[in-house]
Amino acid sequence: MTQSTSSPEPTTTGPRAEFIRFDEISKRFGDNVVLDDLSFSVGEGQRVTLIGPSGSGKTTILRMLMTLTRPDSGTIAVGGEYLFHEQRDGGLVPASEAHVRRVRGRITMVFQQYNLFPNMRVLRNVTEAPIHVLGRSREQAEQRGRELLDMVGLGEKLDSYPSQLSGGQQQRVAIARALAMDPDVLLLDEITSALDPELAAEVLDVLRDVARTSDITMLVVTHAMKFARDVSDKVLMFDGGKIIEAKAPAELFESPEHERTRSFLRSVI
Ligand code: ADP
Repeated sequence: MTQSTSSPEPTTTGPRAEFIRFDEISKRFGDNVVLDDLSFSVGEGQRVTLIGPSGSGKTTILRMLMTLTRPDSGTIAVGGEYLFHEQRDGGLVPASEAHVRRVRGRITMVFQQYNLFPNMRVLRNVTEAPIHVLGRSREQAEQRGRELLDMVGLGEKLDSYPSQLSGGQQQRVAIARALAMDPDVLLLDEITSALDPELAAEVLDVLRDVARTSDITMLVVTHAMKFARDVSDKVLMFDGGKIIEAKAPAELFESPEHERTRSFLRSVI
């Protein structure tokens, strides 16, 4: 732990040097050590890609930011506010429920399975949460929803149902839906792995646009290495519960330091 405080239940990290910080995070499921004393940080507006073999803990990192999975020990902070905070005695203090809800409200995640509401038309899929969670007026939510659906190339599909769309189109709706929450942080978990290459390429093009035109902080778990190379500021290579290399993409892809990284890259490129 790099930060300590005398307050028994601190909720802020003080001046913020970075936007997301994982500090000495460990997590095991039974005997399976998934994350082993792992630390990293992500700057505001940075695009960070998490790569590495299946089962190396990448999704677990994203799930911790969504507070879907709790670390066994360590500290996680977002935007200068703690999600989990380990005290000097080693006890883990989750921030209060209201506090976590507020921090969580700044983060959205897109999953491999798009999870659209099948009984709602495309526009309503995108406006539902802004209206019911953020308290936006229907008019406001629909205006923003139209803009976002235009941006992902689905301005003509507002009245379609998800089942009438291709997988790639559904995933683009899911991206628009996530952006409609005006998040500070967008988490993307293998969002193209269920798609044919051509449809995956359309989705990745949309994300390139998002990366180019917004200052949103992005954490991306992907096997699409060309995409990782194009959009990332930093690539984290996971293996055995550790980050074994953390570098700018040009450096990591051109001259990986570890044999494990080299063999992984050979297997996916
Ligand atoms: P990755 O995203 O790198 O493929 P994950 O973070 O999904 O890896 O999973 C890391 C490891 O944790 C895997 O071995 C997985 O089986 C295990 N795991 C993840 N969630 C659970 C859970 N809820 N219960 C038990 N094991 C889990």
